[in-house]
Amino acid sequence: MFLNELFPNKCKVCKKEIPFNKIICESCEDSLFQPSLLKKTSYNIYFASVYEEPLSSLLKEFKFKENIHLAKIFSKLLYRTYKHYNIEFNEIPEIIYIPSIKRHLKKRGYNPVFLLAKEYSKLTGFNINNKLKIQKRYSKSQVEANNYFERIHQVKNKFFFEGVKEKEYIIIDDVLTTGATLENAIKTINNYVVPIILCKNVKNI
Ligand SMILES: [Zn+2]
Repeated sequence: MFLNELFPNKCKVCKKEIPFNKIICESCEDSLFQPSLLKKTSYNIYFASVYEEPLSSLLKEFKFKENIHLAKIFSKLLYRTYKHYNIEFNEIPEIIYIPSIKRHLKKRGYNPVFLLAKEYSKLTGFNINNKLKIQKRYSKSQVEANNYFERIHQVKNKFFFEGVKEKEYIIIDDVLTTGATLENAIKTINNYVVPIILCKNVKNI
């Protein structure tokens, strides 16, 4: 008797039996693709999906249990979005990802968005640019921030960019909530940047 007869592998979403190297079945994977576009004054934000079930649960598993196979599924969604909207560049863009706060990196040991960037780089052949960083020191206003959450929010939004100017970039992130972090990152990079985000949190947009 084969092992898969004893312990069949099931799709995390619909519970249908699937091959051992899969996490979800093809039709569930396909149903995650819900592309949309948010037009801003100076740039468009492209979304591959929506932050709702089953994606929200899968994303939690990815972020807290480091499930690399999910990075593959999610990066495919980013890639499909890029193709779907036929996003054009004048040159081969580089991939920038939203960096993790040091404290989060320490706790998790990895940045989930970096894993997404790595898989996305494999699919597109575009190089990763890791020159977007979070400022280490708190500015005066951050120290003076009224409460813990306000302070964290501000720290999260302080970036600096050491990359080459006059280049074109794709910036990726997992969830867009307020859009403030992304906006700050794009302003800091100050080049042609196209944001492709895994999912939007509809409650906040
Ligand atoms: Zn399924």
